[in-house]
Amino acid sequence: MLDINKIRADFPILSQKVNGKPLVYFDNGATSQKPQVVIDAISKYYQEINANIHRGVHTLSQLATDAYEISRGKLQNHINAKFAHEVLFTSGTTHGINLVANGFASILKPGDEVLVSALEHHSNIVPWQMLCEKTGATLRVIPMNENGELIMSEYDKLLSDKTKIVTVNHISNALGTVNPIKYMIDKAHEIGAAILIDGAQAVPHLKPDVQELDCDFYVFSGHKICGPTGTGILYGKEAWLNKLPPYQGGGEMIKEVTFEKTTYAELPHKFEAGTPNIAGGIVLGTAVDYMNEVGFDNIQQQEKELLEYGTKRLLEIEGLKIFGTAKEKTSVISFNIEGIHPYDIGTIIDKLGIAVRTGHHCAQPIMNFFNIPGTIRASFAFYNTKEEIDVMVEAIKKAQLMLS
Ligand code: PMP
Repeated sequence: MLDINKIRADFPILSQKVNGKPLVYFDNGATSQKPQVVIDAISKYYQEINANIHRGVHTLSQLATDAYEISRGKLQNHINAKFAHEVLFTSGTTHGINLVANGFASILKPGDEVLVSALEHHSNIVPWQMLCEKTGATLRVIPMNENGELIMSEYDKLLSDKTKIVTVNHISNALGTVNPIKYMIDKAHEIGAAILIDGAQAVPHLKPDVQELDCDFYVFSGHKICGPTGTGILYGKEAWLNKLPPYQGGGEMIKEVTFEKTTYAELPHKFEAGTPNIAGGIVLGTAVDYMNEVGFDNIQQQEKELLEYGTKRLLEIEGLKIFGTAKEKTSVISFNIEGIHPYDIGTIIDKLGIAVRTGHHCAQPIMNFFNIPGTIRASFAFYNTKEEIDVMVEAIKKAQLMLS
């Protein structure tokens, strides 16, 4: 059981007032708040060990390098990767997906197919479209049903010997659907295709085990798991990372450079050109330690209660419709109120200190599927409470009265 008051005290921003009201932060799907240990670790890095890594023989450079590599090891343990060099630091999910999509340009031929799902964030659509334009491959879409669940019988039919890579999110940011990724990974492998899992919305709620999943790539952002912005992880199986060409050229990623020919460094450096976000990478390890101390069992228990309570309370509001009613879903509620634009509700409740997301959530195809301009999305984290949900429900009722 979580001591919720103790947890909330870890997050200084949660005791802040916004527009004169106590902040109710329900935009965790966009980014999580940061605990004091993470905030402190950033200044400690700059106060005590700031130096460039992997280059200097001097003490600070070695301290910074050690801290960076220790953090990589923490991330390796967290996702149960076989080797530390399969864990690449990135600037976030978007960077990780672009790195892999760019690498596949050297593999795909005209007539090959890339499968994406109907539930994707734009960052797991656009890089693959760009790849298809470049290579002459075709993008195919795994459809979903009215509940916001991917239709597995259609997925099975789409898979063929033309499929070279499947890319799907573990959990949808717009609807909260948890996708059957283990099934999808096994099916992709049966026909010899690679599969990338966009774990951006999964890692705040669970610990992925990449060896058990047997996925080829798993990507996520640090800022959604209490870590700094501009950080992320791309896990790739060693064999795939060796096969893909480097993404960017520059310092750090080379073995030897001459004007005639350059050879590349071993993993993970081959994919980590230039000076990385050193402080961010180190502090991402601190954030993962923090999440593990809270405990994912506790996180899931608290979020399950919030999802159930939030769903029940929101459905008391007349004319409110929830989008995304999958059997397996996480603590995200996407909804609209009949006759009212989502932005109008979002704007009014912001004045009452409540932060929710309104709009298409970078998932326009999902909005098109439901034929709506957008939704209001309340996404709960383990530090949220039922009392905050009550505050939101009352605020929405007030907004509804004002607008109707
Ligand atoms: N995929 C999903 C499912 C997401 O929710 C997000 C962030 N909203 C992204 C990708 C992109 O993550 P980032 O902006 O941190 O690169």
